[in-house]
Amino acid sequence: MSLFSATDIRLGNGKTLRMVNGYTFSFSNRLRNGERWLCSSKRTKLCRVSINFDNDGRLLKMSSYPHNHGRPTYVKTSQGFYVKITSDYTTKLEQS
Ligand SMILES: [Zn+2]
Repeated sequence: MSLFSATDIRLGNGKTLRMVNGYTFSFSNRLRNGERWLCSSKRTKLCRVSINFDNDGRLLKMSSYPHNHGRPTYVKTSQGFYVKITSDYTTKLEQS
């Protein structure tokens, strides 16, 4: 058993994120032998974690830094895409 697990999730805006061990990654660029994905909190939290996958989606290399933020929470809608639950969203639900 590997601790590594990756799942592609589709968002409502048509983007696909790759969820790895509970953290989400965005596609960055193609490599000679695969693809490089960056933590989706790179811009908002300046998180530096990146993962290289080979062409079959297997883990090649993961940066050794830890994420500087918690795992995001996503729920799957009945339409089959994923929505990120933020504290703002929760607040709105509670108020409506
Ligand atoms: Zn991160």
